[in-house]
Amino acid sequence: MRIDTKCVQSGYTPKNGEPREIPIIQSTTFKYDTSEDMGKLFDLEASGYFYTRLQNPTNDMVAAKICDLEGGTAAMLTSSGQAANFFAVFNIATCGDHVVSSSSIYGGTYNLFAVTMKKMGIDFTFVSPDCTEEELEAAFRPNTKAVFGETIANPALTVLDIEMFANAAHRHGVPLIVDNTFATPINCRPFEWGADIVTHSTTKYMDGHGAAVGGCIVDSGKFDWSRYPEKFPGLCTPDESYHGIVYVEKFGVGGAFITKATSQLMRDFGSIQAPQNAFLLNLGLESLHVRVRKHCENGQAVAEFLKGHEKISWVKYCGLPDDPYYARAQKYLPNGSCGVVSFGVKGGRKAAEQFMKNLRLAAIETHVADARSCCLHPANATHRQMNDEELMAAGVSPDMVRFSCGIEDKEDLIADIAQALEKVEI
Ligand SMILES: *Cc1c(COP(=O)(O)O)cnc(C)c1O
Repeated sequence: MRIDTKCVQSGYTPKNGEPREIPIIQSTTFKYDTSEDMGKLFDLEASGYFYTRLQNPTNDMVAAKICDLEGGTAAMLTSSGQAANFFAVFNIATCGDHVVSSSSIYGGTYNLFAVTMKKMGIDFTFVSPDCTEEELEAAFRPNTKAVFGETIANPALTVLDIEMFANAAHRHGVPLIVDNTFATPINCRPFEWGADIVTHSTTKYMDGHGAAVGGCIVDSGKFDWSRYPEKFPGLCTPDESYHGIVYVEKFGVGGAFITKATSQLMRDFGSIQAPQNAFLLNLGLESLHVRVRKHCENGQAVAEFLKGHEKISWVKYCGLPDDPYYARAQKYLPNGSCGVVSFGVKGGRKAAEQFMKNLRLAAIETHVADARSCCLHPANATHRQMNDEELMAAGVSPDMVRFSCGIEDKEDLIADIAQALEKVEI
C-alpha cells in the first residue's frame, strides 16, 4: 500500500460482520476464564489485554496505523507528545547517563530535558542543528545513550540533517530519536534516512482538528541493542520485575523497545492515551495525507506573499529558495514541509501585537498544525517571562509571529493577512 492508502486503511481490518469503524474499547479491564490465563499475560508469556493503564485494543489499532505510516516494526500511543519524548529517552537513558540533543527543539521538550530529566540525573548536551560533524562528534561521552532532534523544529523551523545525526549516533553505538511532529510521515519518514526511533505529538497535524492531546512512539526495529549490552542493560539483561525476561531475546530487535516501554514505563507512569482520544486521532489520520498537502500549499503561498510585503522584516519558511534550510528541505522534504511560517513585523513587538489583533480568520492560540489557521506571538505568550535579550538568545525575536496555516482557501488567508498588515502603523 502507498502512504495515502495506509492513512485510510492501515491498523484495522474488520472481519465478517464486525464494525467498519475502529471500535472504542471503553473498558479499564478485561475478563479471563482462569487465573492461569491472566498469569501468562503478567509474565509476558501470552499477548493480550488486562488493564488499560498499560494497553488498550483501540490504542493499539491506531498505533499500528502510525507504525505502518512511518515504516516501523512496533509502536505505542501515549497521553501526549511530552509523554512520548519522555518515554522514548527514559526507556534507554537513566540516572548517570547522557544524551546529545539538537538545541533547536520544542520549548516543552527543552524543559523536559534540561530541567526535569536533569533532576533525574540525566545530562543533556545541546548542539546547534547547523553544527559541523566535528562539533557533533565532540558532544559525545562514554555514557551517551541517545541522540535527539526534530525533523522541522517548532517554532524555529530549522531542518535537521537526519543522515549526519544518524551516522554520528551509530558511530557511537547509540540510536537517533527524531520527533517527526511537524513533517509527519506524509512529508518525511526519518527511518529512511537512518533514524531509529520516531516520536510524535499527535496533538498537531495527525489529529489536526484541535480535538485530542496525544503522542506516539515508533520503533524502526533496525537498531541492534544486543550489539551493545553494556550500554543498554535494560533491554539486554534480565528484567527482575518480569521474572528475568531479557527483552531483546524474547521480543527481538523489532519488538524489544516498545515492549519494554509498555511493560515498565506505561505500567509505572500510566501515561496512556484515552481510547476515546485514540478514536478521534484515527479520524484525523484518515485524512492526514489530504490535509498535509493543503497545509503546505497554504504555507508556501503565505510565505511568498509575506516575503514581498513592505511591512514584513523577515520570513522563515524552508520552502522559500533563499531560506537557509531550503537545500536541506529539498533533500528531506521534497514534497513540502509544513504549514507553519514565522515572520517579523516591522515596528517590533507593538506592531506584531497590532497585526494579530486585526486578523479575522486566524485566531490567537497556543496551538499549531490545526485545520483552522492560528497564530501566536511567542514574546507575549510562551516566552513572556523573558526580556528582549533573553528572547534573542532563545532564537525568538520580540517581533516574531508564528503563523500556522490551516486548510482554508489560501486567497482568503492572504487577504486576511493583507488587511491586518494594512492597519499596522510602522
Ligand atoms: C507540541 C509538540 C510537542 C509536545 O506535544 P504535546 O502533545 O503538546 O504534549 C513535542 N514536540 C513537538 C515538535 C511539538 O510541536
